[in-house]
Formats: sequence, C-alpha cells, structure tokens
Amino acid sequence: MRISIIGTGYVGTVTGTCFAHLGNEVICVDVDPSRVERMNAGIPPIYEEGLEQLLREHAGKNLKATLDYDTAIANTDISFICVPTPSDENGKIDLRFIREASRSIGRRLKDKKSYHVVVVKSTVVPGTTEQIVTPVLEEESGKKAGKDFGVGMNPEFLREGKAVHDFQHPDRIVVGADDPKAAGIIKSLYAGYSCPILEADTKTAEMIKYVSNAFLATKISFSNEVGNICKRLGIDTYKVMEGVGLDARISPHFLRSGLGFGGSCFPKDVKALVGKASEVDYEPVLLKTVLAVNDKQPEIALRILKKHIPDLRGARVAVLGLAFKDDTDDIRESRAIPLIGMLLAEGATVTAYDPMAAEFMKKVYPAIGYAKTAGDALDGADACMIATEWGEFARLNGEFARMKRRIVIDGRRMVDPRGKDIVYEGLCW
Ligand code: NAD
Repeated sequence: MRISIIGTGYVGTVTGTCFAHLGNEVICVDVDPSRVERMNAGIPPIYEEGLEQLLREHAGKNLKATLDYDTAIANTDISFICVPTPSDENGKIDLRFIREASRSIGRRLKDKKSYHVVVVKSTVVPGTTEQIVTPVLEEESGKKAGKDFGVGMNPEFLREGKAVHDFQHPDRIVVGADDPKAAGIIKSLYAGYSCPILEADTKTAEMIKYVSNAFLATKISFSNEVGNICKRLGIDTYKVMEGVGLDARISPHFLRSGLGFGGSCFPKDVKALVGKASEVDYEPVLLKTVLAVNDKQPEIALRILKKHIPDLRGARVAVLGLAFKDDTDDIRESRAIPLIGMLLAEGATVTAYDPMAAEFMKKVYPAIGYAKTAGDALDGADACMIATEWGEFARLNGEFARMKRRIVIDGRRMVDPRGKDIVYEGLCW
C-alpha cells in the first residue's frame, strides 16, 4: 500500500521504516527540515536499536521524506498521524499538533479524487479522533468522513529502545474505526501478523492505549511503594516481587522498584487521563497517587544520600545514567532531571555520564560536568547515584576505586555490592 507518515519522531520513524520493510511505499512528512534531510540520507533522527540498518535499506527507494504535504497526500492512500501530544501547563493533553496535522491533511483531501484513510497513531484522549480530527478533516476538505474518506485510530504500544522489535512482534494490534471500510483497510496493512487484532470504535481504541500505560505506571508506583515499605522492614523487595510476579494473574513485568518512571509516555499519559477524568466530573484518586509516588522516588534517593553526606555543599556527586531508561537517548521526564536539580539545589557539584543521552541533557543542564566514561565521572567523587538501568553499570568494579569516598546510592538495582569495597545503599532495598 502507499502510506504517508505525518511526523518523524520515535513513533513515525519506526512506523514508516517498518511499513517500508513490509514492502509498502512510504512517504514521511515532517515540519522540521533537518529531520527530513536525515531520513532521506538514511540516518534516523532518533536512536532505536536496529533502525539505522532498516532505514538505510529503504531510504531513497520505497521510503522518502518530505516537507510537502501535497506530494505526500496525493501519492498515498492512507496517512498515519504520529505528531506529539504533550501535556499543557495543567497536565492536560495539548492537541495543537494534532489539529495542525489534521488541517494540513484535510486541505489536501479537498482535491483528492480517490478514497483516503486518515489514522491517528499519536496517543490522544478518548473522543479526540471523533470530536476533533474528523470535524477538522471534514471542514478543511468539504467532504464527509465515512463516505468520502475514512478515519481510524491505531494506537502504538512500542517500547522506546525496542521499538523496531515491538513493531515487528506486537502482543496485539488495536484497530479503531467508526466505519467498516476504514477498519478493513487499516487491518489489511497488518495482514501478515499473527498476533490478535482487536477491532473497536475510535474512542475505545484511544482508551485502550491510555489504560495500558496507566496500568503499567500503576504497577511501577505500586512496586515502588512496596519497595519503600520493604526497605524499612529489612525485606528484599526484589525477592518479594519475584514471588508476587510468579502469579500468572500478575506477571513478573514492571515490578522492579527504583527511581520511578519517565519517558515521553507514562507521565504525560497518566496526567492526561487524570485531566480527562476531571473533565467528566470524576476524581481519579488512584491515578493521582501513581504520579505522586513517582514524584517522591528521587526525593527519597536524595534523602538516602544525605544520610551519608548530610551537608552536600561542595560535595562531588557522579550521576550515572541520564536517559529515562536504557537503550535510548531520550531524556524526556527522566528521573535524572529532578535528581540533578535537587543535588544542585543542595550545593553539590554534579558530573554526569550516559552512554547515549548526554548531548540532550546538556540542553537542560549546560553547566554541570559531563564525563566520557562512568569511570571518569566517578573520578574524585564523594558519591555516586545510579539513575538509569544501563547494563554497563552492573559491570562497574575497579572504577569505584577512583572515587574519593566510595558511597554508591543505587536507584536501579544495578550494582551488586558483594565483594566490592564500597558503601552501598539501594533506593528500596
Ligand atoms: P516526537 O516528539 O519524537 O516526534 C514528533 C514529530 O512530529 C517531530 O519530528 C515533529 O517535528 C513532528 N511534527 C510536529 N508537528 C507536525 C506537523 N504538523 N506535521 C508534520 N510533522 C509534525 O514524538 P513521538 O515520541 O514519536 O510521539 C508521537 C506520538 O506517539 C505521541 O502522541 C506519543 O504520546 C505517542 N507515542 C509515543 C511513544 C514513544 O515511545 N515515544 C510510544 C507510543 C505512542
């Protein structure tokens, strides 16, 4: 099929490249010229395992990128909207980019003779496709949804860092559409997949995405709360959660306690669901608490550090890990951000290290030190705080000898202190 992808961020780049790899003709559209240039040169604008190789294979062949909506809409049969849906200052979803992209597509649909399907892949609050995207498309095109063109909602469940794998091996595909023709066309794109394909209306598809993320975030905050209690009771929370996770009704995933969740999805999606619930006159007590527990974890990490160094003024702290999780360069809502902010507010000097995300963090904290290796960050440090679960941190050993005081506060259970000459304390263990 001929597919246009609107927005070449994490979701758009991966979706476009993987659809091209399935043999489709793909045109990616972005408003950022540098992203378009990179895509056409076969260089992904973001890091994802395995993405560069796939993009190189298809860029300039059956995958092209452009700034021009005219070319993209005229030469494709289906468009996936993959633009950002950030939180506004009150935590509610900001649909500015969705409106803009819908307007741009709608204007081009006006003169288009053949049937076209517009699919929202961005995460949007329930009702957005029906109440915003469809009316904007109809207004701009002067055509009728469900008759002249189709509209759908196909949420994305990929994990950053494993996005290509997840696109190719999904647990399920959700196809939301308010008319059967659009649903059939979207489903046909996934014909080769063996996973369950769940059909729903657009509003339900939108809610499935929010509830999935809210549930995973709840598991994390739940595990963190349990971890905070276990630490006080002298119980190993990881052993507890291992026992809990063996229950098939619970599953072992997302039960690792630590610094909490970050990234571009969980915090913003839970906030958006809280905002939507308030709009319909419901107080989402549980979801608000999920966010509150998450906000508290970096504060608890700082409190633990201060047990060892009560006055942090002038102390040198190495922060290991800046990305919100391993295998990505994404620092959005990374727990390292509030952690570094609090360390600086306490008067500490921070040297940070991350194998991938340092360049992005320099925009947030231009004045802290950035080391090229974990060992260099530890050199002369009074304390080390581990903020991201990069595998290499589990292999640190001799590097700790370079510290002035070997205090290690582990926010991700990466370091096994046994046989190491360090003062070690875990966040929840
Ligand atoms: P992103 O910020 O990485 O990329 C968005 C891209 O859209 C940027 O390149 C931007 O320049 C472009 N853009 C903005 N306005 C545009 C317009 N009018 N026309 C064309 N391009 C435009 O975003 P992302 O992380 O890929 O997320 C996109 C959506 O997918 C969000 O709703 C997000 O919640 C959802 N989502 C993200 C993930 C994830 O892991 N990142 C996973 C599932 C769902």
